[in-house]
Amino acid sequence: MTPEEQKAFEDKIYAFKGRKVCEATPAKDPVNATMIRHWAEAMGDTNPAYTNTEWAEKSARGKTIAPPAMLYVWNQQGITAASERASNAQSELVQLFNDYGFTGVLGTNVKQEYFKEAAPGDQVFMEMVIDNISERKNTARGAGYFHETVATFSNQSGEKLGTQSFRVLKFIPQDQPAAAAADDARLEVPTRIPSPRGHDNGWWWEAVDKGKVMIQRCSNCQTLRHPPRPMCGECQSMEWDSVESKLDGEVLSHTELHHPKIPGYQYPLVCAVIKLGEGTNIVSNVVGCEPSDVHIGMRVKGKVEQVDEKNMLPQFYPA
Ligand SMILES: [Zn+2]
Repeated sequence: MTPEEQKAFEDKIYAFKGRKVCEATPAKDPVNATMIRHWAEAMGDTNPAYTNTEWAEKSARGKTIAPPAMLYVWNQQGITAASERASNAQSELVQLFNDYGFTGVLGTNVKQEYFKEAAPGDQVFMEMVIDNISERKNTARGAGYFHETVATFSNQSGEKLGTQSFRVLKFIPQDQPAAAAADDARLEVPTRIPSPRGHDNGWWWEAVDKGKVMIQRCSNCQTLRHPPRPMCGECQSMEWDSVESKLDGEVLSHTELHHPKIPGYQYPLVCAVIKLGEGTNIVSNVVGCEPSDVHIGMRVKGKVEQVDEKNMLPQFYPA
């Protein structure tokens, strides 16, 4: 895209800012005990306030309520969404992105706010607007734009129940040659996702940076543990030291990752759980052979390697 083309495209997409996706529309069904029960079962949520009428009658509310996190459930279109979804501002915006090669889609953020509970019998209305569209961003997935819709939920009395903002990245997938060529100049060479280094595991990754794979050991009962964590699961001691693994291992389980292909990773990519000679398990990659040669029980030998410009990682080879 030339700068002029980009400007013309952006004029078109920014015209969608503030447009309504739908007016306040009632859900097909009122809030009801059946859907709440199914949701609570699927989520494993055992809060009696949602499903136990006897308990709820004695509670401060005097009746069961819907889980607040179900807010977005009531107005879902269900199976008809696949065939009968009417065109609206959101679908027009998505089509516009697609027409210009921004065919990739990635939901990046959902934020809900709750103001008032809904209970069986209530009718939930949802209205939605396109709230914001970002400037062009170069992301690890490709060049694209974030756009955000905000849904506002209300009940039959017009009282506001809550809101949900939902942010989506529409991007040019990297493996589309034309798009990738246009963006190459501005993109850094992608690397693997950096290791998350927190209070309890930062030391482990720092050892990896120096070429070592450590295993945490309880100072009290000598039990080894991995991944790193503050307390021994055997004796609850919080005192620990560590031993260096020899990286002799055996494949306990493995899978070949195909999709989505994340920039920075080399494919084929075999992810495996490896049982180390010391007794603990580690999740890593099996490299240096065909994915089809990897099997459960396979003996492997690990070494810590530089896998890209920024990251050192243990990698396991056929022994
Ligand atoms: Zn212990």
